[in-house]
Amino acid sequence: MTQGFDTLAIHAGTAPDTATGARQVPIYQTTAYVFRDSDHAAKLFNLQEVGYIYSRLTNPTVSALANRIVALEGGAGGICCSSGHAAQLMALFPLMQPGTNVVASTRLYGGTIQQFTNTIRKFGWSAKLVDFDDPKAIAAAIDDNTRALFCETICNPGGAISDLDAIARVADRHGIPLIVDNTTATPYLCRPIEHGATIVVHSTTKYLTGNGTVTGGAVVDSGKFDWSKVPGRFPSLSEPEPAYHGLTFHAALGAMAYTFHSIAVGLRDLGMTMNPQGAHYTLMGIETLSLRMQRHVENAQIVAEWLEQDPRVEYVTYPGLKSSAYHNLAKMITPKGAGALFTFAMKGGYDSCVKFVDNLKLFSHVANLGDTRSLVIHSASTTHRQLSDEQRAAAGALPNVVRLSIGIEDVRDIIADLDQALAIATA
Ligand SMILES: *Cc1c(COP(=O)(O)O)cnc(C)c1O
Repeated sequence: MTQGFDTLAIHAGTAPDTATGARQVPIYQTTAYVFRDSDHAAKLFNLQEVGYIYSRLTNPTVSALANRIVALEGGAGGICCSSGHAAQLMALFPLMQPGTNVVASTRLYGGTIQQFTNTIRKFGWSAKLVDFDDPKAIAAAIDDNTRALFCETICNPGGAISDLDAIARVADRHGIPLIVDNTTATPYLCRPIEHGATIVVHSTTKYLTGNGTVTGGAVVDSGKFDWSKVPGRFPSLSEPEPAYHGLTFHAALGAMAYTFHSIAVGLRDLGMTMNPQGAHYTLMGIETLSLRMQRHVENAQIVAEWLEQDPRVEYVTYPGLKSSAYHNLAKMITPKGAGALFTFAMKGGYDSCVKFVDNLKLFSHVANLGDTRSLVIHSASTTHRQLSDEQRAAAGALPNVVRLSIGIEDVRDIIADLDQALAIATA
């Protein structure tokens, strides 16, 4: 029998250290690993034997974390990266060639919209952003050069929920993988692979670490996609890969083809590697993921309900509220709670929002989310500043909108802080 989620969060990917008996995963602070002999070295480089060569590719502490996240997401394999943004590039890397595109949601995190609309063009890739609430719009945007769909489970900052099952059906019909950024939900609230996703990405910087100490990212592959089904569509995986002495990854490695390509070519050549210290912090964080997420969603629900009935507030976007257009979807996609990230609009506009943010005391004004501490940011003047008005509106980052990441403090203190800052802002 497979173990339960809470057990996996503590034990998956780790066992007492064979050399010392250390109960916690040691921080393997090493760059390289001694080969037994030349034959052993050759086998490692040929992927005939799995083992450690050099920490740009793999490291035991980082592998322990990757395996734990893979277990929690119900995947076949995965890697860790230096940040969530690195994970997104790494997730696309085995799939894309110059001239190919990804069809992505307009409701992505502002930094991802930036990465997708401008930076990936330097690789000859492009993104088409469409409304992911509309499966027909997604289908219409897919062309012969589309190599993936990309969306977030719970969209940052607006809290919209993606109908993963419906989106996965569109991906299936067109023979392309669905990549889901599960950062804001975490596998505790939603496991996208169970809803048909092929690949899951994370910014482990957020809830998985949980306390704002390190940046990191992860890519998890379900192992379920047939990379060879349409000849020529995913040549890095289904054809001899010139970047790895002509190895045909899918034929040689089956369900682990994508993961091995990500390590042997992606991490080797792009080098967006997680360091073992960082992996250690995130392993510690994940041990308490369930307990923290329970409190996060409980507090978020109470705070959202309190804000919604307040006359100083215009609207609250939390999908846990009956007033949310995403309320029913939240029950299907995130049945244990609709996350702890949402926005609310203040009566009074841009200036009141700035005053509100400046007068909060318990909340920290930071460009982060998923911390034990309650956090606030005015997206329009910060994370979404470099976007067009149209892109900001689509992302739910209007001038009078404030984003909250509800922490796990005593909920009465969270509400008291919001109350006093609202009083000053609207005086
Ligand atoms: C923060 C975030 C990212 C980027 O992650 P970094 O670790 O900051 O690079 C990507 N997606 C979502 C949903 C995020 O919240």
